[in-house]
Amino acid sequence: MSLMFSSYRKTKKGSIVKVVRECYLRDDIHCGRESCTQCKKFKLDNDEQFAPSSGYLVDNARLSLNKLYPKQAHYIVPDFNTVTNQIDVIADPAFGNDVIILQTIWKRIKSNINVYSKLKELISSRRFYLFDNEFFRQTFRCRNPNETIDEYRENLCREACEWLQKHFTTIHIIYLIDSIDNENVKSSDECHFRIHSIADYVQNFHNPINLMDKLSANVQQNEDGGNKTQKNDFLYDEHLPLHLVLPKIKSGQLHKGCYHSNRYNFLEGTVTVMCDGEEMNVNIEGRANINRAINEDIVAIEILPRSEWKSKIHDTILDEELIGDDDGEDAKNHHSN
Ligand SMILES: [Zn+2]
Repeated sequence: MSLMFSSYRKTKKGSIVKVVRECYLRDDIHCGRESCTQCKKFKLDNDEQFAPSSGYLVDNARLSLNKLYPKQAHYIVPDFNTVTNQIDVIADPAFGNDVIILQTIWKRIKSNINVYSKLKELISSRRFYLFDNEFFRQTFRCRNPNETIDEYRENLCREACEWLQKHFTTIHIIYLIDSIDNENVKSSDECHFRIHSIADYVQNFHNPINLMDKLSANVQQNEDGGNKTQKNDFLYDEHLPLHLVLPKIKSGQLHKGCYHSNRYNFLEGTVTVMCDGEEMNVNIEGRANINRAINEDIVAIEILPRSEWKSKIHDTILDEELIGDDDGEDAKNHHSN
């Protein structure tokens, strides 16, 4: 079966030409898992530039690497924004192997020379597999008239994940997205693969500090419109030594509690502490305030003066009755019942 694609291009001289491309869909695309019995009749990509020197995807992939999947083998499939914005997180040896790069993403990355060359290096040197989902009859389809080009690409990626998940059965497919938008992270009931934001996934590594630093530096850089100097200038406050912390906890200047990071935004979290005999959840925001704490760390916090407390919309909704008591005053803390 072949499909014909046509597009119109403008030449250097300014005339418009119609470009027709013929695409043959294949049935013999290998999934990338080296031991796959269903695919063993197909050749693994032996094109020299894409043959990883350390072999193809393995059965016990990423075991005990991440607390979200402590005893479950899984492959990572990053989306376009994750590859583009977080390539140095993905390329870090601590991030691990067994990553599937979809052809839909690979085609778009080619226009970004920096990311393209890093990704090419990863595919040839580590267990990163380029899955030709757009040449494969099972995972390719034409664009529906009601889909925008972005929706179409995203749907192709998710449909490839779904096929891979059904094909691998016991090995989880994790679609990693670079978004803190809760809607995108939610898996729909129909899909069998898992979806995580890269921040959520990375902060669940056993030792995530370096990766988190790279991740938050990228977030900062993106917020600053690509200002690279900002990335390297950020310095955390020193952690206070224990002999200074303990007396301050005793005197009530600092409060001891367990840090819970927000699973949808790694730059936010809460610490539950006892303050004046009352339990309160204190919101912690931003890299400087979080100061390298990771989920479930026992930390000591200082409560800011009331004038610096920020209001949270959900606090006022959840605690409607409290508004009267507080005269609607901004609250940094959410009092739990
Ligand atoms: Zn296979």
